[in-house]
Amino acid sequence: MKKVGFVYDDIFLKHEMPSGHPESPQRLMKIVEVLKDSEYWEKLVHIRPRPATDEEILAVHTPDYFRSIRAFTGFYDGDTYVSPNSFEAAQYAAGAVIEAIDRCKNGDIERAFCAVRPPGHHAEADRAMGFCIFNNVAVGARYAQRLGYRKVFIIDFDVHHGNGTQHIFEEDDSVFYFSTHQYPHYPGTGRDTERGRGKGEGYTYNIPMPWGSGDKDFFFAYRDILPRLVKNFRPDIMLVSAGYDIHMRDPLSGIRVTHEGMRNIIRGILLRSTSTFLPPMPYVFALEGGYDLEALGDSVLQTIRELLEL
Ligand SMILES: [Zn+2]
Repeated sequence: MKKVGFVYDDIFLKHEMPSGHPESPQRLMKIVEVLKDSEYWEKLVHIRPRPATDEEILAVHTPDYFRSIRAFTGFYDGDTYVSPNSFEAAQYAAGAVIEAIDRCKNGDIERAFCAVRPPGHHAEADRAMGFCIFNNVAVGARYAQRLGYRKVFIIDFDVHHGNGTQHIFEEDDSVFYFSTHQYPHYPGTGRDTERGRGKGEGYTYNIPMPWGSGDKDFFFAYRDILPRLVKNFRPDIMLVSAGYDIHMRDPLSGIRVTHEGMRNIIRGILLRSTSTFLPPMPYVFALEGGYDLEALGDSVLQTIRELLEL
């Protein structure tokens, strides 16, 4: 059994939404409820996050954006809402990934799941977008590199393309960004011709999936393509943007991944070290999307089980 951290704090519930908004506090309440009802709750190492420092956030985001979002409330764009406590919740969401990386580094845990909101992968260096305020995984990647994890591999299986993460690292050959997502779909980026730029060319890999794609397509991406990319890159740490809106029940997607398909994706991500003969390395998952509460709870439970057992 692996030592798996579960990083969570009630501060994430204080990132409040207008009624009817899909990115609701109920999402995390459901995850905690399902895990508490399971045999896995007691096997997890429960970790409270700290807030990311200004400096840690500014390693990714611009000072102008950071200053403006600190003072902002209301709708930032058509779907990104910022409530009075959202800035603080966003500091802790990025800090959760940082705390998980710290705990992996000092040996308390081998893997972690960060149950956070707001999510992060749409946030660009200079703006909030698509329910996201700070790019939690990007902040984590830069922090990991400060700790000595030189090469970071980011896997993003959210149904939406992680435009923010891709753009932040697209000229960087020390951070690999791999994404599967519905295409065409929000936010409009993520064509397979987007492969990074300059020094970073070849370190971005997009697999756009047409509407109606399902288990078979994801099996191919995660069992046949991903291991080869990981093997060639030889990362020191894996960060995962875990978006469960690929589930067939999700209201925001046309992708049809089943319960079984979800398990195959998680197994594909975790098994790559044994299949490619790389040394074991930390895995830190951070929650992104997932808007059908039943599907979300079930999918996170499966993820936790595989993190513990595989
Ligand atoms: Zn999404």
